[in-house]
Amino acid sequence: MEFPHEEVPPGVIAVCAQLREAGHRAWIVGGCVRDLLLGRAVGDWDVATSARPDEVTRAFRKVIPTGIDHGTVTVLHRGEGYEVTTLRGDGTYSDGRRPDEVTFVDDIADDLARRDFTVNAIAYEPTSRALVDPHGGLADLDARLLRAVGVPAQRFGEDGLRILRGARFVATLDFELEAETEAAFAGVLDVFAKVSPERVREEWLKAMKADRPSRAFEVMARTGILARTCAPLGELAPDLFRLSLEALDASEATGAERLAALLHRIGRARGAGEGAYAQTSADLAEGWLREYRFSNAERRTIGHAIRHHRELLDLDPADAGATRRFVASVGRDEWEPVARLAAAVGRAEGTDPGETLAAVQTVAASPAPLAIGDLAIGGREVIGALGGGGRMVGQVLEALLARVLAEPAANEAELLLAAIPEIRADLEARQ
Ligand code: ATP
Ligand code: MG
Repeated sequence: MEFPHEEVPPGVIAVCAQLREAGHRAWIVGGCVRDLLLGRAVGDWDVATSARPDEVTRAFRKVIPTGIDHGTVTVLHRGEGYEVTTLRGDGTYSDGRRPDEVTFVDDIADDLARRDFTVNAIAYEPTSRALVDPHGGLADLDARLLRAVGVPAQRFGEDGLRILRGARFVATLDFELEAETEAAFAGVLDVFAKVSPERVREEWLKAMKADRPSRAFEVMARTGILARTCAPLGELAPDLFRLSLEALDASEATGAERLAALLHRIGRARGAGEGAYAQTSADLAEGWLREYRFSNAERRTIGHAIRHHRELLDLDPADAGATRRFVASVGRDEWEPVARLAAAVGRAEGTDPGETLAAVQTVAASPAPLAIGDLAIGGREVIGALGGGGRMVGQVLEALLARVLAEPAANEAELLLAAIPEIRADLEARQ
């Protein structure tokens, strides 16, 4: 396989060359090598070097000791930062999470041996233009296979996160899991259970960037990872799980919001019927998002979308009053995540909610009054008309809004004031 040397940024090549001139060796390694060989966009450039951190520090004028205890230094070259990490060996892992200590090594092969998958264990030395591939990563790239470096069960036992990374790479790289590698997942679920919620969240978020994130969740479901991470999702009936995965892939939401599609029906695994799953699913999803340390804003957006998407799908686009009531209840500024989820779920269910979505968008963009604050009169005028304050003021405003949602032309001060006596009589009759 020809390595696309020209696509390595000049700054990365210059950093490697400078280390070489100082008497050390330097390679680019890991995800950047893999992605270059696959013709994918490269996220971050990781440089591995035989130089110890203090030697790296001496070889450059400006460095930031980013993670110097782990051997990582950020080198500044022409204003850009590059992460340079000293070659590390395979430490012992007693807690299934982190090596007990960091050991520096001289041989690139020792550094590659501690990495998780063969396609992540290829190094390229820009100065010699040589590829280092001791684990057959190039052949696996070619075959689009994700294979553990070394003995899978042993490697996964060192760090429980690796199996989740494996599931995630199946989706983001669109690879298949090599059979022996997958067979080792089930035996390390107890180690996986010790992984911190933050690291799990990061992998789920990375999976959301795939064209078809469902591929990661299929792996998680069949290997038992899902049952250990999000029990209701793991317990969904097969047809509902499939529907959720289809909604996930169809979703045009980005980042955490895409999870709304995956989680929208989890309430069905907790007793909620098809007619009323949205509320239960939203509550469960919010609890799960809290457990996995998603931000308050992410939790609110996802919960809101799940809670209201079914109302949108059930809306009759020809009913203008109902459409206005819907936008008023979800909020003029908060309808979009709801609409994105409804679109994804509609696609998965084989319906086309296009007309409803257009009707909702038109209302949200129109000047139609949708909130009490949009009414032509306010609390002061209502108090005047009632001859006093009290609990009824809010109730009258609500009733006025209901009239205006049904008939926007009614939003004139005189018309609203004229309606108050009748509203008052109604309210008093009901007390
Ligand atoms: P991406 O950045 O696209 O998510 P990546 O492969 O670059 O994928 P990083 O987390 O950036 O992943 O890690 C860089 C490299 O470090 C990996 O390619 C792999 O060689 C190694 N690595 C990362 N995490 C682990 C781990 N948990 N166990 C073993 N090796 C790992
Ligand atoms: Mg990376």
